[in-house]
Amino acid sequence: MSKPNIENIPAGASWEKTGNTSWTQCPGCKGWFHVGPGILNRPEVKLHCPHCSKDFAQADAARIIRAG
Ligand SMILES: [Zn+2]
Repeated sequence: MSKPNIENIPAGASWEKTGNTSWTQCPGCKGWFHVGPGILNRPEVKLHCPHCSKDFAQADAARIIRAG
């Protein structure tokens, strides 16, 4: 039940020009959206999905991709 949902990718991945932008996938609608790089260092901060307006803890995210 504690499957890691955070993946790290190297900075400068071809699809991410800035290299320090992270993405998370909403557990509700499965939509992807940007999260600031500082947010992932603060697990107490809940994420807000812009697609379905769901608020969820980082631990509940379907997937998180952290660049850099
Ligand atoms: Zn959503």
